[in-house]
Amino acid sequence: VTCPADGRAAGVKVDRISAALLTTFDGAQALHLNQCSNWPKRAGCAQRCLEEIESAPDGCLVRDIVARWYRGKQCVFCKRVFAEIDWLNKPAVLGADQGTRQWNDVRIEELPEVLGSCQPVCWNCHIAESFCRAHPELVTYRRSA
Ligand SMILES: [Zn+2]
Repeated sequence: VTCPADGRAAGVKVDRISAALLTTFDGAQALHLNQCSNWPKRAGCAQRCLEEIESAPDGCLVRDIVARWYRGKQCVFCKRVFAEIDWLNKPAVLGADQGTRQWNDVRIEELPEVLGSCQPVCWNCHIAESFCRAHPELVTYRRSA
């Protein structure tokens, strides 16, 4: 990044996974630097270089990881194959507890485990499954002939 304090290049380190996840899924601005080559000399700076990091094209690192994970996989319920991810009607995951979850319910530190152990679920099936779990009395299961 370019250090806004002196206009010169500085090497900084942020928690990329948490940074990308927060900015991608919550729109939250919770970036913090772990390290900067201008520290400790300029420790306690306003960290204004974070604006540059947030607007960087690879700020969506986690989104890329998640999209790559879905690509070519099938929804575990309807068998639809995932191609490009619709981030408005985001796909979900089916966990070991048989509950479906949206990505904004997944904590950063859980991400590797979720990708390793959960199964992909499309948006439509996620909505249907969530409804069935919340209102089982309203649902009739029928075998498709
Ligand atoms: Zn599905």
